[in-house]
Amino acid sequence: MVSTAVVAAFDELEDRLYEYLDNVELVVGDGSEKARLRLAEIEVPTIVSLVRSLLREHRPDAAGHCASCGHRWRGWWLLREPWPCAVVRKTHEYLTNPDRVLLVCGMEVPEAPTLDRRS
Ligand SMILES: [Zn+2]
Repeated sequence: MVSTAVVAAFDELEDRLYEYLDNVELVVGDGSEKARLRLAEIEVPTIVSLVRSLLREHRPDAAGHCASCGHRWRGWWLLREPWPCAVVRKTHEYLTNPDRVLLVCGMEVPEAPTLDRRS
C-alpha cells in the first residue's frame, strides 16, 4: 500500500518531467531562432547525457539480463528482465537511425566514428 503522500510526490515528479518536455517542445515549435539555437546549445546536451546515462545503467550483466531493471514475479517464478530491456528497446525504436540527425541537419556522415559513443 502506497501512502497518499508518496503518490502526491510521484505525481509532482511526473508533472515536472512532463513540464520540462512540454517546454522543450514549445521552444522548438514556437520559439524564435535565437531561442531554438539556445535550446540546441544548452538542452540538447542535457538530453543526450540523459539517454547515455540510461543506456549505461541498462547494460547486460554476465548472465544476459539487464543490470538495472528489477525482478518480477510470474506465478511462483521470480524472473529477471532479459537484455535488451524495455528501456533499451524503446530508445532503439526512437534512435534507430543514428545518421539521420546529421542528414536532416545537412551534414555529411563521417566514415568512421570520431567519438567514443559510450562516454
Ligand atoms: Zn533495463
